Amino acid sequence: MKRKKVSIIGSGHTGSTLAFIIALRDIADVILVDREKNKDKIKGKTLDILQSGSILGFDTHVKSTVDYRDTAGSDVVVITAGVPRLPGMTRDELIQTNEQVMIEVTEQIVQYSPECKIIVLTNPVDAMTYTVYKKSGFSSERVMGQSGILDSARFNTFVAEALGIAVNDVHGLVLGGHGDTMVPLIRHSQVNGIPLNELLPQEKIQEIVKRTQNGGAEIVKLLGDGSAYYAPSAAVYEMVEAIILDKKRVLPSIAYCDGPYDLEDLYIGVPTLLGSRGVEKIIELDLTEEEQQQFKHSAEAVRELKSTLKG
Ligand code: NAD
Repeated sequence: MKRKKVSIIGSGHTGSTLAFIIALRDIADVILVDREKNKDKIKGKTLDILQSGSILGFDTHVKSTVDYRDTAGSDVVVITAGVPRLPGMTRDELIQTNEQVMIEVTEQIVQYSPECKIIVLTNPVDAMTYTVYKKSGFSSERVMGQSGILDSARFNTFVAEALGIAVNDVHGLVLGGHGDTMVPLIRHSQVNGIPLNELLPQEKIQEIVKRTQNGGAEIVKLLGDGSAYYAPSAAVYEMVEAIILDKKRVLPSIAYCDGPYDLEDLYIGVPTLLGSRGVEKIIELDLTEEEQQQFKHSAEAVRELKSTLKG
């Protein structure tokens, strides 16, 4: 059977960590792309990943390049290229620089991999995913972004810590934009079937909600020179795997909503079914009045960001 191919545009912290996870799991060959000035650096990272194969027992093909011809025929392309959020910088301030990067890289992706699915990680990710969708001309099911898996993972981690239990038993669901307005759905969050409301007091849950909404900024502040990359790479890996292995996973993704959730022409975090066709379905939840208000507020924030796009 022909090996699958995943290209990663932007080989910084998240891009190279994602390459390492894909290589370790050996689900596809990997092409790491970056700018000419980083040619040697990404060659070094690639060699480093390859050399760990001898110890960890994988022989996945991983290659670095600055030439998009090497990405030809990719099944999935992940975009992490751009500038990360630095201390004190809001996601909104990233928009100008990163929109230009999205336009530039999407042109190349489409030229060499016209059949691929694209997953965007670059922030502000809801708006950047919209830019890539428009620029690519692809059907919306083939273009998506990552936020909900990471935001839910942060929520799960804080819940597990509060309860002193295994994180794998916690199943939270976070929807909406990837920012301060994200909506952790408490009613849909549970610990192996036990509703969260029955295990933690309201004040503690609200504290965890706030910490989740601030989860990216908390790490930016602690790192001092960049943003989180282990969990973000793990989150995007889960999406890549769902598509490459056609797993039909039910995962939150930034998906194109034009109808669902009463939204019009907007990319935002919603529950989706991910398989080989990309976003094969958007799952519409029956939200309470309060949840609807919160989701609407989040959608407004994403729409405002989208309105600042130049393209
Ligand atoms: P990083 O600075 O370590 O890596 C970015 C890489 O992109 C750099 O190597 C840079 O040279 C490269 N790049 C820039 N312009 C390029 C271009 N035109 N073509 C090819 N490569 C280019 O940053 P990072 O920590 O890997 O984060 C990447 C992006 O992902 C940031 O925008 C960050 O905010 C975002 N992010 C999003 C999430 C999420 O949940 N959606 C989580 C973490 C990070």
